[in-house]
Amino acid sequence: MSTSPNPIRTIAELKELRALTGDKNGAQRIAFTKTWLKAREFLRAKVAGLPLEIHNDAAGNTWFTLRGESEKCLLIGGHMDSVPNGGWLDGCLNVLAGVEILRRINTQYHGKPPVTVRLVDWADEEGARFGKSLFGSSACSGNLDMNEARGLVDKQGIKLPDALKSVGIDFERVKESGKELKNAAAYIELHIEQGPVLLDIDLPLGAVLGTFGVERHAITFHGQAAHSGSTPMNRRKDAFLAAARMSSEIYRIAERSGNGVCTIGSCNTKPGIVTSVVEECRITLDQRHLDAARLATMFTEAKAASNRFAKEGNVNVSWERIWQIAPRPFNEELIALCDESIRETCGQSHRLPSGPLHDAAEVAAAGVPTVMMFVQSLHGISHNKIEDTKEEHLELCVTAFDKLAGKAMNWVKAH
Ligand SMILES: [Zn+2]
Repeated sequence: MSTSPNPIRTIAELKELRALTGDKNGAQRIAFTKTWLKAREFLRAKVAGLPLEIHNDAAGNTWFTLRGESEKCLLIGGHMDSVPNGGWLDGCLNVLAGVEILRRINTQYHGKPPVTVRLVDWADEEGARFGKSLFGSSACSGNLDMNEARGLVDKQGIKLPDALKSVGIDFERVKESGKELKNAAAYIELHIEQGPVLLDIDLPLGAVLGTFGVERHAITFHGQAAHSGSTPMNRRKDAFLAAARMSSEIYRIAERSGNGVCTIGSCNTKPGIVTSVVEECRITLDQRHLDAARLATMFTEAKAASNRFAKEGNVNVSWERIWQIAPRPFNEELIALCDESIRETCGQSHRLPSGPLHDAAEVAAAGVPTVMMFVQSLHGISHNKIEDTKEEHLELCVTAFDKLAGKAMNWVKAH
């Protein structure tokens, strides 16, 4: 019997899933909906022939367990849910590649691998309906803010706890999911890159160093409204001018940080009419870096720059934090194994940070050694029906990810 995975089968299954749960606008597997449940049934049918223990945990994550000689576990993760009008690969590639790896391991070890191997389908990674991503994995890691989540409401006015109830989940008990990590010794996740880095350097696969930390703030400059005709330029307290200077400054801050990114994503002016100098200008700033110290420096530099521009423009400035999260670096030894698996598969590897957050970030935060592998995204686009990856790259990623699973099993066994 074959002891290598069959990536062609994974691609065929992804297409089957697309036909089953997508429409002309893309994937429609929004968490806690009928289509999502259908996708999960599809998944259970795909593993029906394998000797797995299957159960849903307290947060609705599905666990597929292949018991090994040791209780220590290698975890492989992904998510069947999608955003509305999503792509055909985001999340489900990870899960279906995991299924293929379970098949290979089961065959190779006649149903009893040296360590326990578990595939997890996280519930509501995308947060498309309630605006809060990583639901299932953050419940499992213990990071989910219960008070915040309890109050979340979808567009129809349905509360998250009620939506969960309709699929058999008791909101108040979701953190009991944490016990699933008891014997977890390593976590690996495959994902499409969702960005252009691998495409630009023309490489199919990369080893992910961790997920970016984020500092997200609103910055408001306070000036004075004045007539646009009668107020000489040197007498103005122009809140927009100070905000506009921030726009070019954040590019210099990002450049100095090495690999960090900064975005001013919105700008609102008051009174916001064509005949008045701007009295109040509110911009939002999103800063991300893999290194906590450098992220802190980016934040301090932005704050200093805003004070300088406010002073020069004779306006005031105030800051309010919208959101923040620490960087989640992955495990050095697993990163090295990921690199090795990629090199053995296609010759060359590349190490890169992840801008988007992933379930892997939650597992890493819970203290489980973690790594992710990225496969190139065409157009560098995701969360869109045009999301795509070359089939030859999909084949390579299943092969390389399977190698990583093998190396990670040995690593788990040796630790
Ligand atoms: Zn995803």
